[in-house]
Parts: sequence; structure tokens; C-alpha cells
Amino acid sequence: MTRVAIVGGGISGLAAAYECEQRVRSGADLEYVLYESSSRLGGVLRTESVDGCIVEAGPDSFVSEKPWAADLCRSLGLGDQLIGSNDADRKTYILTRGRLVEMPDGLMFMVPTKILPTGLSSLFSWKTKLRMTQELFHPPRAADHDESVAAFVERHYGSEMVDRLADPLLSGVYGGEAASLSVRAVLPRFAEMERTHGSLGRAMLAARKKMSSGPRKAAPSLFTSLKNGMQHLAESVSAQLTRGTLLMNSSVQAIQAEAGGWVVSAGLNSDQFDRVIVALPASAAAAVLRMASPELSAELAAIQYSSSITVGLGYDRRVRQSLPPGFGFLVPRSEGKLLLAATFVHNKFPHRAPEHRALLRCFFAGSNAENVWPLSDDQIVGIVRNELQQILGVRAEPQFARVYKWKSAMAQYGVGHLERLERIERLRQQLPGLALAGNGFRGIGVPDCVRSGREAAVLSAA
Ligand SMILES: Cc1cc2nc3c(=O)[nH]c(=O)nc-3n(C[C@H](O)[C@H](O)[C@H](O)COP(=O)(O)OP(=O)(O)OC[C@H]3O[C@@H](n4cnc5c(N)ncnc54)[C@H](O)[C@@H]3O)c2cc1C
Repeated sequence: MTRVAIVGGGISGLAAAYECEQRVRSGADLEYVLYESSSRLGGVLRTESVDGCIVEAGPDSFVSEKPWAADLCRSLGLGDQLIGSNDADRKTYILTRGRLVEMPDGLMFMVPTKILPTGLSSLFSWKTKLRMTQELFHPPRAADHDESVAAFVERHYGSEMVDRLADPLLSGVYGGEAASLSVRAVLPRFAEMERTHGSLGRAMLAARKKMSSGPRKAAPSLFTSLKNGMQHLAESVSAQLTRGTLLMNSSVQAIQAEAGGWVVSAGLNSDQFDRVIVALPASAAAAVLRMASPELSAELAAIQYSSSITVGLGYDRRVRQSLPPGFGFLVPRSEGKLLLAATFVHNKFPHRAPEHRALLRCFFAGSNAENVWPLSDDQIVGIVRNELQQILGVRAEPQFARVYKWKSAMAQYGVGHLERLERIERLRQQLPGLALAGNGFRGIGVPDCVRSGREAAVLSAA
């Protein structure tokens, strides 16, 4: 019998455990044990139901384009629970010189594909608009080295585009700054477009033309979530796992190769396995693998993580009516606020808040999150309320407020990340039976984490 240890009960570890469970049920000679240091499964997937609202403490949804999370939901029988974002109401605002300015229609990340809306928008100066036109003549470039997203975007559209769009959009996903994120790891499609077309604008228009010449399909909504929140996914996976295989409150301290297998030590207990899947944030993986391979541990430790704080605020009907339409707003660093973004949750998804409630999800990340970290929840809510008043004019007392702090939970793929992954893979191959999963490697979003967990299990169960 093959014995597999899975370390970490976030969505990456759960996806790995689910794959193992499926194999056990179809008769594989396999046994698995999942170690989770805390008393709950799901990691950052956490949902609270407050006053009729579904409040997401961690991720609120996942991009529909990547199929792995939705596939897992369907396989768990949650197909009818999947909900799409209300894209007909999709509008995002960028705080620009203290005012909310709507992102112009046709912007694909930062690439304009419609001339008129971008030309008329007050989001960009004339200088940047001129750069957008010049960008159409950008020559193809076979980049021989990685660079930061900021450097890449600046070469194409200038520094204002970095400040107004690239940086706030990416901070919302990675909690990091465009100046330190790797363009090859974070925006591989754009790096490829530059190689093939030179101009991102021309590449995007060519891609659109190709799509519109094919058979017309209804576009799926941009984001997918679950009616009862993201925690439902974690709960549904854990409900499928064999009880005896889950070791809760079991913090793994070390994983060591021994006699052709692996010894996993958690507290006073040690157990022997043939395979180990480490499904932890890379920094935590570095700690447990220190003795097994100092080199691998050092590479894992070099993957940076940033902290984030989400604040859920429930308001009454009057506030709901006073808010602008759309999904919410982003705040560029140059605006000098602590908040990075706010989502009007009641608009973005159905089933999130009753008609008479407004539900806002506010977000701090990176150095701003570190700055407010030591403050009490009440003080953090005070900061949020103050900034919401400045930005939206909302003075009302919230009916409820919830603060969730996530220490070092968001991986930041720094310049040279892909080269580091190659070195990690070479070192991992020297340790037969070891597999790595999680958000530190090839995608931070829930779908990529599901895929990484599943692939690690497939490798380990082979
Ligand atoms: C605030 C926030 C918002 C996000 N929003 C989105 C979003 O909207 N859409 C999206 O797709 N993604 C989003 N993400 C990213 C995504 O949610 C995460 O990357 C993903 O859920 C990480 O899952 P994981 O299992 O790899 O790690 P985690 O969820 O961090 O799980 C790791 C688990 O390992 C356990 N553990 C740690 N050390 C040990 C040890 N030594 N022994 C045993 N167990 C241990 C932890 O307790 C934890 O349960 C967001 C992330 C955050 C923090």
C-alpha cells in the first residue's frame, strides 16, 4: 500500500486529498493522511453569514476563465450552487485626484481596445493617450530577461498607466507592487504578445478579430463564486474525505527523507510515508523542508509573501441607494490613502446581501496592511469609515463590521520567479516522493491552487 501525507488543509491540500480519496474509492492501493495545523480546514477560504449577508473573509470568487475550481465544484455536486458575477452591471472606478473615475469600456487590463471611450476618459492625461497611439507601432521584442510589470508597462504606456491601472489592479490580486512583480510570471500573455506583435494594442485587436470570426458563444461571467460563499467549497471537499485521514491541530515541524520514504513529524508524533505533498505557503514549506534539503528550503524561502486585511461592512438601504452603480473602486498608491480597493458586493454577485442591505468589502494589502496591522479592529474600521467618507461620501454608521487579517498569505512572484521555479523543480526531483502544491508557484488564485493540489496528488498516487 502506498501511504501519502498531505501537509496543509487549505484549498490546495484539500484538492490533493480529494484526488487521493477518489482514487481510494476506485480501488487504488493507497492511504492518505492530511495534516492541518489549525482547527479548521479551508485555509484562507472563510465565509461568515452576518445579518443575512454572505461575508467573505478571504477570496470572494475566482476567475471563470480558469476551469479547475468550477470543475471541482461540479464534481462535488455543487454545480447548481455556482453563481456568476453580474457583469451587465460591471463598472470599476479608479480614484483619480480624489474623484472616482470609471474605467473606460474596452480596456483589457491596461490595453485599450476601443478608441472613443479611452480617448474621452478623464482617467488618463493627454500624454498617456498619445502614448497609447504610439504603442500601436511598438516593435516586436524578444526579451532575453525577465523584468518588472512596472518596467514593462512603462515601456509601452508610460508611468501614469503603472500608477493608475497596473499597480492597483495587481495589488488587488498579489498584494504586491508592480515594481517588484515579474512580468513573465504575472502577465505571461502580455509578454508573449510583445514577442509576437510588439504592440499589445495590435495583439489584442488581432485576438478579438479572430474570436469574432469564430462561432458566437455567450460570454461566461468574468467571476464565479458559490451561493453560500467560498467556504462551502472547502466544507464540501472535507465532507467527502474519510474522517480518520484528517489530523487537525497538527502542525508539521519537519519532513525528512528516511529509508526510501519520508518521516513526517508533528508535535510528539512521527509517521512514515512513501510520498509527501507539501501544500503550504512557500515560506511555511521552506521551514518544514529545512532539514530534508537546505537548498530547496532556501529557494522556497526566497518567494516573498505579503499580508492583507479585508473588512466587511454592512449598511442599510439608504447607503445602498447612494452608492454609484458597479463593482467597486481601486485606489492608486499616489492618492495617498491606506485603502487599496473596495467592492460593492451586493452589486457584484447575486445572493450576497438582502435588498435592504449594502455590503462592502474593503481591502488593505502590502505595506498598507502592515501599517495598520497592530491596530485594533475598531481602529481599522475607523480608518475604513474615514476613507469611505472621503471617497464615497458615506457617513452612516455600519450595521455590522468584520475585520479579517491574513498574515503573509499572498505570494508575490518577483522578477526571476520562473527561473526560481526551474531551480525548485530540479531540487525537488532529487527528492523522490516529494510533491509541492500551493499558491507560491504557478498561480495564486483558487483555480490554480486546486490544479496544483490535484496535479501533486496525481504525481504522488502514480
Ligand atoms: C484576502 C485574500 C483574498 C483573496 N482573494 C482571492 C479571490 O478573490 N480569488 C482567488 O482566486 N484567489 C484569491 N486569493 C488567493 C487564494 O485564496 C489563495 O492563494 C489560496 O486560497 C491559497 O490556498 P492554499 O491552500 O495554497 O493556502 P492556504 O489557504 O494558506 O492554506 C494553507 C494551510 O496550511 C496550514 N498550515 C500552515 N502551516 C502548516 C504546518 N506547518 N503544518 C500543517 N498545516 C499547516 C494553514 O493553517 C492553512 O490551513 C485571496 C487570498 C487572500 C489572502
